Amino acid sequence: MGYTKEEIMQLVEEQQVKFVRMQFTDILGVLKNVSIPVSQLEKALEGEIQFDGSSIEGFVRIEESDMNLKPDLDTFILLPWKPKDGAVARLICDVCNPDGTPFAGCPRGLLRKAIKEAEEMGFFMNAGPEAEFFLFHTDADGRPTLTTHDMAGYFDMTPVDLGENARRDMVMTLTEMGFEIEASHHEVAPGQHEIDFKYSDALSTADSLMTFRFVVRTVAQRHGLHASFMPKPIFGINGSGMHTHISLFRGEDNIFYDPQGEYELSKEAMGFIAGLLEHAPAFTAITNPTVNSYKRLVPGYEAPVYIAWSQRNRSPLVRIPSRRGLGTRVELRSPDPSCNPYLALTVMLKAGLDGIKRNLTPPTPEDRNIYAMTPEERINRNIFSLPASLDEALRELEKDPVILEAIGEHVWDRFHAAKRIEWDSYRTSVHPWEVEHYLGKF
Ligand code: GLU
Ligand code: MG
Repeated sequence: MGYTKEEIMQLVEEQQVKFVRMQFTDILGVLKNVSIPVSQLEKALEGEIQFDGSSIEGFVRIEESDMNLKPDLDTFILLPWKPKDGAVARLICDVCNPDGTPFAGCPRGLLRKAIKEAEEMGFFMNAGPEAEFFLFHTDADGRPTLTTHDMAGYFDMTPVDLGENARRDMVMTLTEMGFEIEASHHEVAPGQHEIDFKYSDALSTADSLMTFRFVVRTVAQRHGLHASFMPKPIFGINGSGMHTHISLFRGEDNIFYDPQGEYELSKEAMGFIAGLLEHAPAFTAITNPTVNSYKRLVPGYEAPVYIAWSQRNRSPLVRIPSRRGLGTRVELRSPDPSCNPYLALTVMLKAGLDGIKRNLTPPTPEDRNIYAMTPEERINRNIFSLPASLDEALRELEKDPVILEAIGEHVWDRFHAAKRIEWDSYRTSVHPWEVEHYLGKF
């Protein structure tokens, strides 16, 4: 890490790199790339590679279409899939306007901006995600099916866990690419898996999540399987979450930890938690951006539904794992792996910082099982629910100036327009459930 241009040129020569993929992420969280032959690399390292932004959904209008890619030299990596003659490398880029200024529609740029704001307050954000996914069979034409390859359950071992080979290959490939894998295991549902990599600063974590999704899908394909990060592919069993562990550091110190504080948490930790709870209704559209995301956020499947925090049980939105000292952290359990990781980390950070700035304090932690409470009990305790649909989530986001400011006007306009189309298309479709319940009855 921390390469200079000269080092990259040298590596490219040593490893006989023929092509470099210049990668960036669009507003909806899709990984894009412009592949350049190595002869163009010097120009590319100077940030002189242009692409037509109008061809990327929601980026720019035709008349303002030229965008520049500014590679982040720290992200240089050789892709482990080597073609026969020579290697392929990738560089993650920031998208800039032709004059070199950051492009307002670049999600990576927005996360950088939020990180800078945290820095100005003296904080540095670390984040560790737990991305879950399913492995499905493909049909004779290679299309994904909903058939899972195994009948295993949480932490089951072979021979039941037939996806283990694929998962081991994923872990090895990720490790080869510099990931530090902390754990990988079968999840609760048949065919469901989780691979956890070590926490890092927010920008590296967002980059890693993009790489992670790409590697997991590619390796699955090599095993004849389809990896899906869809939040709730099958009704009646657990969906896939992307619980995110967050801590703030100042230098070497974890500032969420205070041995004298209530629950051994600092004033900043309490402010951060309160900020997450206050802005949760609004940032859910970003952390859970699909129609399907809301099929996961229902009772009974270990996904959060209620806006509360807890020290112990896992039902609320925010959980504080028991580790203290350097490992003190806040776990936000609502995000799902269909999100744009740059935007998701941006809104989590901004929500928490707002809580710190305004010196907010969270309500008392809810250590009872919220699902077992009656609606009256929840109302008496001021426990509200997360938005129940993409439509509701968009309406909540519309009302929250802090989260709107975090994603900026450009991204909001494009995101909102795209998500309204998605919602309307879903809303006006007739689904199998309706046919099953109404066709015979009426
Ligand atoms: N799959 C569950 C979710 O949707 C989480 C299970 C777990 O606690 O790891 O969030
Ligand atoms: Mg899990």
